Amino acid sequence: MLNGQYDILFEPLKIGPVTAPNRFVMMPYANGHSYLMPNGAIGIREMRAEGGWGIIGMQLSEIDPTSDLSGLPYERLWDEGDVAVHAKSVERIHAHGALASIELAHTGLRSRGAENGYPAMGPSSLPTLKPEMPYSAKAMDKADIKRLRASFRAAIGRAKRAGYDMAYVYASHDASILWHFLSPHYNQRTDEYGGSFVNRLRLLREVLEEARDEAAGDMAIALRFAVHEASGPKRITCNGEGRDVVEALADLPDLWDVNVSGWSVDSTTSRYARQGYQEEFTSFVKQVTNKPVLGVGRFTSPDTMVSQIKRGVLDMIGSARASIADPFLPTKIREGRIEDIRECIACNICVSTELAGVPVRCTQNPTMSEEWRRGWHPEKVPATTAAQNVLIVGGGPSGLEAALTLARAGHQVTVADKADELGGRVRREATIKNLATWGRVVDYRLYQLQQMGNVYLFPGSDLDADGIADFEADQIILATGSHWLRDGQGRSNLAPIPGFQNAALTPDDVLDGAEITGPVVIYDDDHYYMANALAANLAAKGHEVHIVTPMPTLAGWMGNTLEQPRMVAELLTVGVRMSPNTTATGWQEGALQVVRSDTREPQKAIPGATLIAVTRRMPDTALSDTLTARGTAHRVIGDAEVPGTIQTAIYSGHRHAREILGSEPADRIFKRERPMLFL
Ligand code: ADP
Ligand code: SF4
Repeated sequence: MLNGQYDILFEPLKIGPVTAPNRFVMMPYANGHSYLMPNGAIGIREMRAEGGWGIIGMQLSEIDPTSDLSGLPYERLWDEGDVAVHAKSVERIHAHGALASIELAHTGLRSRGAENGYPAMGPSSLPTLKPEMPYSAKAMDKADIKRLRASFRAAIGRAKRAGYDMAYVYASHDASILWHFLSPHYNQRTDEYGGSFVNRLRLLREVLEEARDEAAGDMAIALRFAVHEASGPKRITCNGEGRDVVEALADLPDLWDVNVSGWSVDSTTSRYARQGYQEEFTSFVKQVTNKPVLGVGRFTSPDTMVSQIKRGVLDMIGSARASIADPFLPTKIREGRIEDIRECIACNICVSTELAGVPVRCTQNPTMSEEWRRGWHPEKVPATTAAQNVLIVGGGPSGLEAALTLARAGHQVTVADKADELGGRVRREATIKNLATWGRVVDYRLYQLQQMGNVYLFPGSDLDADGIADFEADQIILATGSHWLRDGQGRSNLAPIPGFQNAALTPDDVLDGAEITGPVVIYDDDHYYMANALAANLAAKGHEVHIVTPMPTLAGWMGNTLEQPRMVAELLTVGVRMSPNTTATGWQEGALQVVRSDTREPQKAIPGATLIAVTRRMPDTALSDTLTARGTAHRVIGDAEVPGTIQTAIYSGHRHAREILGSEPADRIFKRERPMLFL
């Protein structure tokens, strides 16, 4: 039972002319649905409103066509024609008692000018901020500045007409023109908009004042501002101009929404930051302003949230990822169901999908982005009318997710796993240094399953085809996972590497506790976290580690989880040697034989006492092959169907379970967004 210790999170809060029903804010995060996919995007927002978030944020919305994030899945509020879609979104949010906010932005130097054909603009004539585009930004003249201010004002008017309760003036990260004007790094002007702090602040102040004027007390105006830049030349910091900005504009916005810049430090993974990590940078804000302060910090624990408010750090708890992972987090806290919270593991798979320009996926929550198009609810599944006896072999993420989904529908579910503990790959990988948070994937599901009377869990049960037959299940699901190859076949190299099969350890061996002696050579032809996480782990235990990869950079894909630069810095700090652009041709006499990947020029062999091959995983299909040979119907899910991320395994478990429940279209054609034809 709760003793009211979380009540403070449910106190309403006045923000200018509006009142938020509680302290939970779904941040204006990018959800991978551009303005072209409004139905799915509304589904995401409506589900969070239903789940109890007090304010629901519309993601970054361009105010006009000169802000051009070509190809990225963002929103638009360019003209009156966009208002109706926004109004529908607001209506669905309001229906659940939440407030709706919109983040209005002009992206300045981050604009690309490729789609709309207008040049990018900035305070000065500079290269645009995305290096893959060979464009420059135009230095804005007075007429451009006037147009921009008018554009912001007009967008505020449209936001009001769409029914929003709050509009953001966005001046955070390097995706805001207001930030570019403020920054002594980007702003090289010599007129009244450049030079001194007061001059660089001028545009932001004008836009804010005009936003308030246009809102005319009908809508709150929030300022999203990064009080601290973690890196870069001429930084704005919380002890310098970050603080000066808050002091100068203290009571001008109705709400301060403060964070740290850039995105990779704002959305850090659990591997690199603890919950509440932004406090040291943002805690001063409440001492400077009388207006409410909102902040983020991958909050999932209600105790931490309460502590932030009670200690006067924040007034409102902002969440992007926690709301993706558990749309019902506020409701669960209000009802005292803390154990039911599906906590975000801060893996940033969501970020990687957004960067890929597709509807956002989540490791913990397979229903993310499926609310509208597949009708998946994060807490409910359709009840079965004919309960069946389901046997699931394998209690990794896919097996546990399938079990939970089917058990919730009312089936009798048995999970058998040969390992002494359930959890599969997640249980093992969570033992790697700084990956313990990933264990939440298993903890959440196991706890839920243990509460149900129709679930039977059997760890330590190695099943073969006969054992499965004896069980006489109505449905057989194999979630038997995958294993790492030992012979060197990887992503870039599809053939065995001489000497590997007899010498190499695999990540499975290492996680099973294989003895590791002397200097370690890790060959990474996988390019995600496993090789570098093991390297950091072994280095922390005192091993000399050398990581070798055929790719030009180490684990380049981790750029998509915003972790790559930090990971390289971490390895450097713990003394791991790195050889990119280096392809292994064999393991001979205790040394990795290597050539340059680009020229194939032979390089000096890399000696080691232990070789670890982190290359590729193969599905474990032996049991499935036997069942198929016997004509026994079954399904194969998760990594056993196709090895992937933990997210894909969870998703697979969920989808297969819904297929068994009969709620998925047999032809696999789900509801989708259809562009309108004007011809
Ligand atoms: P996924 O990511 O798809 O869930 P994992 O590799 O995490 O896959 O989990 C697979 C699980 O299946 C492991 O815990 C493993 O012990 C279990 N398993 C594999 N084969 C059998 C079997 N024949 N009988 C029981 N459990 C099995
Ligand atoms: Fe959290 Fe990972 Fe889900 Fe993103 S994908 S919300 S980081 S669990």
